[in-house]
Amino acid sequence: MSYVQEVMETVVKRNPNEPEFHQAVQEVLESLEPVLEKHPEYRTAGILERIVEPERQIIFRVPWVDDNGKVQVNRGMRIQFNSAIGPYKGGLRLHPTVYPGIIKFLGFEQIFKNSLTGLPIGGAKGGCDFDPKGKSDAEVMRFCQSFMTELYRHIGADIDVPAGDIGVGGREIGFMYGQYKRITTLYEGVLTGKGLNWGGSLARTEATGYGLVYLTDEMIKAKGKSFKDATVVISGSGNVAIYATQKVQQLGGKVVALNDSNGYIYDKDGINLDTVKRIKEVERGRIKDYVKVHPTAEYFEGTGIWKIKCDVALPCATQNELDEEDAKALVANGCFAVAEGANMPSTPEAVKVFQANKVMFAPGKAANAGGVATSALEMSQNSMRYSWTFEEVDAKLKDIMVNIYKNASAAAREYGYEDNLVVGANIAGFLKVADSMLAQGIV
Ligand code: NDP
Repeated sequence: MSYVQEVMETVVKRNPNEPEFHQAVQEVLESLEPVLEKHPEYRTAGILERIVEPERQIIFRVPWVDDNGKVQVNRGMRIQFNSAIGPYKGGLRLHPTVYPGIIKFLGFEQIFKNSLTGLPIGGAKGGCDFDPKGKSDAEVMRFCQSFMTELYRHIGADIDVPAGDIGVGGREIGFMYGQYKRITTLYEGVLTGKGLNWGGSLARTEATGYGLVYLTDEMIKAKGKSFKDATVVISGSGNVAIYATQKVQQLGGKVVALNDSNGYIYDKDGINLDTVKRIKEVERGRIKDYVKVHPTAEYFEGTGIWKIKCDVALPCATQNELDEEDAKALVANGCFAVAEGANMPSTPEAVKVFQANKVMFAPGKAANAGGVATSALEMSQNSMRYSWTFEEVDAKLKDIMVNIYKNASAAAREYGYEDNLVVGANIAGFLKVADSMLAQGIV
């Protein structure tokens, strides 16, 4: 049995019933085979056995009282996966599907993504099975305060700096920050995604979506293509999807579809982003409300967004939202590039279809790293007690995304996987972490 298979067996045995975590580990470990052959010292030092085991897992009760006076209890968690190259960094997800398998998969991916940014941040992720949908602001506040009342003792500006993810935006970060400050009396950069008046960074809101499009643009330019006049389908209608849409439109592309977990809209004239922003960012409504304002657009209940003809597809909603059949439909419709704004949105079978059909493909670890990179820039600004302008942050973000593309492509080429950014991103992200772990001894 190979080293990778041995480690994989332990992962499955030690983390039963956590398929998303197994999927994420399998994909990374498989692609490291050639690196492990070239570097036997990684095996001697047990790098793989250590890198698949979180450094620390914290699971805690989150009690709060709803608007009817009823006591509610949720399960919160923070998984601090790897601190070889810097303090832990990674988002918090609030969604009913949250359980340790999801948070572990996200935390594991985060190690390599953070390394790829070139910035000094380790990997972590956290969250809770709380569903913010349909809750009042007061309920969300009470929940966030209770969540932070336990979490605060495990985080800190030089220990672990959480950020947003699904279900966690500016409102939730605000409530959590307020509670952290109240308990600790520290005014420090312990969370990112803060408001601009109280330590936030310009361009953080836009960063993941913009970064995704910067990297995709670099990837398609290398093959003589561009966003100008391209038809683009984007899934989701949250933070990542909205700002990916904005950047595609700025580059002259036409985004014709968006969705949420109920269904998708198709607007052949191109999505009107002001309407989407109002529905999603202000009213916290459903994407189907779009057709009330734009009657020539259509709304379809359920899945099916990937059957729409497009040149570029950007999945920006959630894990495993694009399967083999969807990938075949995209290929049949002439789609030439897919880049992941969400984490692990394409199933392994879908990725194989893209690669077999020479569709350019950028995995989430590389393509959506702009969010965490800009969070790290927010940390730098907090440390300096200084703020960069929007243009300064945006220019740094663009540089980082172009470098991620270059480093992942170079690593793929070095190991004989021409154009395979999945392998390239895994290898480039892994090497820096593995070498740091080697240098720091068996810890
Ligand atoms: P938001 O909560 O802002 O938006 C999530 C969007 O995805 C919503 O439109 C939501 O619809 C939709 N969605 C969620 N679950 C499902 C589902 N099961 N089926 C269909 N649609 C679904 O989250 P973000 O935009 O921040 O995050 C989206 C993805 O990007 C996630 O995978 C996240 O991990 C990843 N990401 C986010 C970063 C960030 O900076 N925010 C950074 C890097 C990655 P609905 O409202 O119906 O639930």
